[in-house]
Amino acid sequence: MARNAVRLASLWSPRAGVATARPLASAAIRIPERVAERLALVFPSPSPSLYVHEGARQALERRLMAAHPGQVVLSITDNRQSIISHSKRSGVLRVRLHHMFLDAPPKVMEALVRYITRGDREASVRVGLYIDENGYRLARRRPRAVPLHTRGRHHDLLAIFGDLSVRYFGGSVSARITWGNKVPRRSKAPRRAIRLGSYNGHERVIRIHPALDRSWVPRYFVAFVIYHEMLHHLFPPARNEGGRRVLHPPTFVAREREFRNFERAIHWEARNTARLLRVT
Ligand SMILES: [Zn+2]
Repeated sequence: MARNAVRLASLWSPRAGVATARPLASAAIRIPERVAERLALVFPSPSPSLYVHEGARQALERRLMAAHPGQVVLSITDNRQSIISHSKRSGVLRVRLHHMFLDAPPKVMEALVRYITRGDREASVRVGLYIDENGYRLARRRPRAVPLHTRGRHHDLLAIFGDLSVRYFGGSVSARITWGNKVPRRSKAPRRAIRLGSYNGHERVIRIHPALDRSWVPRYFVAFVIYHEMLHHLFPPARNEGGRRVLHPPTFVAREREFRNFERAIHWEARNTARLLRVT
């Protein structure tokens, strides 16, 4: 059987002068500690940048064998185009899986096996959700470095982020933050909409619209926008019972209301939207 390689983590590295964030690498394979104690890492290739957790692969192969009457061959890949593929020929089940499944929770493993061996619909929803949550592990071959600019003219994003992290999250938020790029506007007409903040789960980067870097924008409002994006970092999109993606599930909404200046921020936004849309 062909050995499949899994890319090793490329680590976060600040470049001189500019802070850069690299997306979480595909090979930051977290094997639960209890399992890791029993299973040794196997280095199938002389290249130091490739490894496969052979023990975890075998464990998953055994789960498939228990559910499939014939022979099973499981290969682990870092192919981001084909995350799950399988075929049955003369009783042999051949499965190729992205390495994100090697350390999936037991319920996901169980669904994965049901999906592959029986095409179970409900199982496929569960597996799909897991793939969504782990999308950041479908890393690009060459992760793009993201320059981070946190000091604005009026607001220091890193300072606000740090305060929020301590006050609401025990200081444990691992996302990064930056002002978004200033995109020159051709039209002088006010915008029709403005996205004040965004969160990219692949890069783990929160971006704040530079329009908020104004003296008339209160700090608590900038903090509110950041807080909302921090919640996106902590609560990945979920799926409801119908399999629909929900960006702001009830737990998210409840947490958002815990923001100290929640009402104040909502009112400020309502009163100042038109002004924000006019910012050049
Ligand atoms: Zn949101």
